[in-house]
Amino acid sequence: MSVIGHFVDGRRTGGSSGRRGEVFDPATGRRTGEVELASAADVAAAVAAAERAARAWRDASLAKRTAVLFAFRELVHARRDQLAEVITAEHGKVLADAAGEVQRGLEVIEYACGIPVALRGGFSENVSTEVDSYSLRQPLGVVAVISPFNFPVMVPLWFVPVAVAAGNAVVLKPSEKDPSAALLLAEWFVEAGLPAGVLNVVNGDKEAVDALLEHPAVRAVSFVGSTPVARYVYQRGTATGKRVQALGGAKNHMVVLPDADLDLAADAAVNAGFGSAGERCMAISALVAVEPVADELVARIARRMAGLRTGDGRRGCDMGPLVTAAHAARVRSYVDAGVAAGAVPVVDGRDVEPDGEPDGFWLGPTLFDRVTTDMSIYTDEIFGPVLSVLRVDSYDEAVALVNASPYGNGTAIFTNDGGAARRFQHEVEVGMVGINVPIPVPMAYYSFGGWKSSLFGDLHAHGADGVAFFTRGKVVTSRWLDPRHGGVNLGFPTQT
Ligand code: NAD
Repeated sequence: MSVIGHFVDGRRTGGSSGRRGEVFDPATGRRTGEVELASAADVAAAVAAAERAARAWRDASLAKRTAVLFAFRELVHARRDQLAEVITAEHGKVLADAAGEVQRGLEVIEYACGIPVALRGGFSENVSTEVDSYSLRQPLGVVAVISPFNFPVMVPLWFVPVAVAAGNAVVLKPSEKDPSAALLLAEWFVEAGLPAGVLNVVNGDKEAVDALLEHPAVRAVSFVGSTPVARYVYQRGTATGKRVQALGGAKNHMVVLPDADLDLAADAAVNAGFGSAGERCMAISALVAVEPVADELVARIARRMAGLRTGDGRRGCDMGPLVTAAHAARVRSYVDAGVAAGAVPVVDGRDVEPDGEPDGFWLGPTLFDRVTTDMSIYTDEIFGPVLSVLRVDSYDEAVALVNASPYGNGTAIFTNDGGAARRFQHEVEVGMVGINVPIPVPMAYYSFGGWKSSLFGDLHAHGADGVAFFTRGKVVTSRWLDPRHGGVNLGFPTQT
């Protein structure tokens, strides 16, 4: 059994807290490792290393920084299968899905390779006579990234490459449920030429998060996780004077209009509902069928679900286990609650026969029909393979239902009517919208983020927002005096 420690100042280190968490292989149910849970002193050591490294790194040329990023991109690309195996072993998602996650992370590294363009400022000549103005963006110093269990590679890579490329030093606190991938990324970054201390990893739980939120040298926090913790991190972090972007939970609706291609919609609902066992912040968990299509749509989805194989992610199955025994039990209790509340279990995942060891954390894909907005399977983020169908009579009813949700991460509409799609994109109160696309995750050069309780703060992840988040703007007004300068004048400076 392995002991998973921290990565500070360019090398793996142990912890001083004496506290450890357990890491499992969700497909076997076996404990495969123990992870150090950092104390405030462990966090302080990582922040100190980052502070030292940040002083030189902010002055590293753009050429030097991009050379490191290009080399890191090559290493991650060459070792993407290894990374996918580590993800599957601790998270449980199937290997193909883990490889997809690595690919989306690679795209952010590639975006960060273009940092010289993203950091370019503006220049205005002669804003006043012989006076020029120009804008710069400079790094913040030490920043923290706190990530969730469900994307142990992609979510750290939403932030770390951009933060580092912009000249910051980073302390990354991954999820204690699947901590190994982050350590590999940090090691590979150093192998690619990143100076020791520019990227540090501390493993831990709330204690480590609180230490980061309280540490005065940490200037900014990028957080991704559940809504209650995101809200807490935003409130605590901003109270201690930090810049915070805190991405929270989700309940994503897919609206199917009567004119939609129902095969396309059924494929999309299955893929987006059950991919990664529903443990995606962009998973579709509520399907809003505008009548009269519900009967036919539910039948087509159920037919596709009959062909899904749940099992060990290393065996070519479609869907893996849930991340922990406790989470599997929680999701199962929601299925029980759905049945008790009167929803119709068209496919009941509690009966699944997995292609995997019996002690794995299994629950099969579950489809509920005739779900209503007062049921807990609708109101709560379940974060499991449970898809709820709600029936409505009109487009207006569908949009009102989506907009009444406290969450606003992603949504999708399926229709062949361009006018309806355009109206939806305009009216819906959600940050990422798909039109005949069920999981509209923006490319790395756009920014990822939801609205309402799905994001606290204003700047989204990666793309232009990411660069803005990890830098401070500065505007310089300059005049090189010539013999004609005008002498003393206490008036307010205006253009002449
Ligand atoms: P989580 O909130 O339990 O944990 C996220 C991080 O916060 C982890 O690093 C964890 O160690 C830490 N943490 C947990 N409890 C804490 C506490 N009380 N105080 C301080 N820190 C704490 O989330 P999770 O279960 O790891 O991830 C799943 C959640 O993340 C889901 O709600 C999902 O929707 C959300 N998520 C959102 C996005 C997005 O982009 N909006 C992306 C991925 C995941």
